Amino acid sequence: MSAPAADLATTLRTLPNVDHRARIDRLRSLLPPAGVDALLITHLTNVRHLTGFTGSAGLLVVTTDGVVFVTDGRYDAQAAQQVGGADIGARIEITSTEQRRIVADAVGGTGTVGLEAEHVSWAAQRRYAEDWFPGRELVPTSGLVEELRLVKDDAELARMGAAAAVADAALASVRHRLLEGPTEAEFGLELDTAMRRLGASRPSFETIVASGPNGALPHARPSDRRIGEGDLVVLDFGAVVDGYCSDMTRTLMVGEPTEVQARMLAVVTEAQAAGVAAVAAGVAASEVDAACRGVIAAAGWADAFTHGTGHGVGLDIHEAPRVAGSSDATLDAGQVVTVEPGVYLPEHGGVRVEDSLVVTTDGNRPLTLTPKLTAP
Ligand code: ZN
Ligand code: ZN
Repeated sequence: MSAPAADLATTLRTLPNVDHRARIDRLRSLLPPAGVDALLITHLTNVRHLTGFTGSAGLLVVTTDGVVFVTDGRYDAQAAQQVGGADIGARIEITSTEQRRIVADAVGGTGTVGLEAEHVSWAAQRRYAEDWFPGRELVPTSGLVEELRLVKDDAELARMGAAAAVADAALASVRHRLLEGPTEAEFGLELDTAMRRLGASRPSFETIVASGPNGALPHARPSDRRIGEGDLVVLDFGAVVDGYCSDMTRTLMVGEPTEVQARMLAVVTEAQAAGVAAVAAGVAASEVDAACRGVIAAAGWADAFTHGTGHGVGLDIHEAPRVAGSSDATLDAGQVVTVEPGVYLPEHGGVRVEDSLVVTTDGNRPLTLTPKLTAP
């Protein structure tokens, strides 16, 4: 194992503990303003954030003085280990047939019951109203746990930093292979395999390897197109470490760029740097978008930058805040956002450059540390 890989392995083995209790306490403080006496959390990503539970089925009830977690027999031992180990004072119930009764008991006999409106289907809402909580006032809540997830704590930043380091190391280990004429799919597989080998539990989304004309499609899927001389290759990928995603894009030129391709690389790199320079606590997300867009528009390619500038990252690859002209978000210290402008010209290919940044009071700190390479 090389020295950086050994360092990375140590980092992954020694991630700081998560303070789930602080998260539950903060959530409790949000319930009264939301008009909620008990909150039923059904969205598994939110359940995970609050309890550490990583299984595929689980319900969480949080009231002013209690926490009840319900899952089925498949997750008996796992719930004891994860939710029991989270030190949130949760009562853990394992049952398939009695979930409705246990949850109804957990929310208590009076008061309002909050549901996660963004994550509850119409059919589920009717079931809760008619069968689970008849006669009770149900309150549609929006973004309560997401609000907690917006600003990352130290344990989250450590995981996201490790995920970004895995992706950095993976690219460094395979980028030379682009010169050997792989197909997009083959190179994508190598990148994914390298991330797994370095400690990722999985890629944070389907890796994008988009070469030549495919690069002009911002979300192209890796094809059997063979990468060769004259291709710009857009690589957009990330690793997951303990649930947390990284996200990075680099565009590499195979062979000599044409005049237009060289200009695309220079303009997008400059636009991305302008966006990064704008990121700081208290700044409107739309200003970051404007900073990127200004550079690209000045180069005459305003119409070739066809997507928003960035997004929040965390347990989900895309989460709040949005970084776009239409976003009304203001950046806050501890948020993690991407800055990823691009220019897409079908005859020449695509260029996108993306970093994930931790917002700080006086600016930002990049999590993705791969230099702005332009060649494999
Ligand atoms: Zn990306
Ligand atoms: Zn992204």
